[in-house]
Amino acid sequence: MERRRIVAGNWKMNMTPAKTVELIATLRPLVESLDVDVVFCVPAIDIVPAITATRGTNIAIGAQNMYFEESGAYTGEISPQMLKEAGVKYVILGHSERREYFHETDEELNKKLKKAFEHGLTPILCCGETLEQREMGITLDFIRMQIKSDLNGIPASKVEEMVIAYEPIWAIGTGRTATTEQAEEVCKAIRDCIAEIYDDATAQSVRIQYGGSVNAGNASELFAQPDIDGGLVGGASLKPEFGKIVNCK
Ligand code: PEP
Repeated sequence: MERRRIVAGNWKMNMTPAKTVELIATLRPLVESLDVDVVFCVPAIDIVPAITATRGTNIAIGAQNMYFEESGAYTGEISPQMLKEAGVKYVILGHSERREYFHETDEELNKKLKKAFEHGLTPILCCGETLEQREMGITLDFIRMQIKSDLNGIPASKVEEMVIAYEPIWAIGTGRTATTEQAEEVCKAIRDCIAEIYDDATAQSVRIQYGGSVNAGNASELFAQPDIDGGLVGGASLKPEFGKIVNCK
């Protein structure tokens, strides 16, 4: 089955609203593509200006987080309905920085995933092991545990539409990319895990990205792997280099 490539930029906590408009003006002509889905996951305060600045283009806007309640006394949080009404299409859930610094658990992520689907948002669910876990030889066990816990109770019809990003924590923002073989091994294991929980058709539909120091020099080889359907890109998504990553052959 042909899966459409998806390349998403994770801007993290960078760019003010004014800088967002400037950066989009710079990147917009560079990321034009007919055969790749392009997503900019921007900070919450930049969502509205980013939606306006990308209207009529091939760029979709994503959020970097979302709460699992509809509304109420949750100071500082943002609801799925707010994202949806603003025009957001994707939401990153479970990025390792949120798991580590903000103590997000798989149980909470499971609730967030269900809510995102309920509101028609496409989750980009992140998973990935620490260096210590890789050295202990438990990478695949750990990733399978994350996937199974996060997707618990979610139907195949939703999973086939979602995106999963494999991001080894030791490769994020470190300049140390996983080798192509390491990245493909885990992305294939994620697909096999989906087949095990659901069925082959669901496993063949779900798009799996690699993330962790993706740049213009390594993207082609990584994205050419049979189980890697694009990338989640941090640092390089804020530079014109992102255009080269989107359009790499
Ligand atoms: C990320 O933020 O998800 C990421 C992969 O960052 P970087 O590309 O900078 O390693």
